[in-house]
Amino acid sequence: MSQNIPGTAKKGIHELGAEKKVGWDEVTQGVVLEPFAEPVKDVAHIRPEERDYTDFSSYTATVASWRVLKPVYNSDICIDCQNCWVWCPDTSIISRDKQMLGIDYDHCKGCGVCAEVCPTNPKSLVMFDTNEDLDVALSQWPEKKRKEK
Ligand code: SF4
Ligand code: SF4
Repeated sequence: MSQNIPGTAKKGIHELGAEKKVGWDEVTQGVVLEPFAEPVKDVAHIRPEERDYTDFSSYTATVASWRVLKPVYNSDICIDCQNCWVWCPDTSIISRDKQMLGIDYDHCKGCGVCAEVCPTNPKSLVMFDTNEDLDVALSQWPEKKRKEK
């Protein structure tokens, strides 16, 4: 399995050096943006981290600064159901071979859909302030909810 992926459960914008990446406000208005340096065949069969993106593609440019809240992933509880991967509107759940690996914090916009659809008790994805340290967030994880009698 390739480890050259843009984000994992332990990485955020600073750890990734994403602040060095281009932002959309640096793109000249009205230009045509080519996502790939060369024409690509069967792109759906190539993993994102292995594609030859240009510097101005939706993959290369980070939108992390748009986020107010971020989902934090707790692998101890996750059952790899893939619900979050199916529902994320920004393809920001990193899953390989049906195994949940974490969040792509370069592209996650913090909508909270993944945390909403996560079926575990307690949830394996919980929304925190986007500046919260991941280890601190994990130490504050909610308890299992008991059924009311
Ligand atoms: S918060 Fe929204 S954009 Fe971010 S990983 Fe969850 S569903 Fe995707
Ligand atoms: S929805 Fe929750 S349990 Fe299912 S893969 Fe995502 S984090 Fe894991």
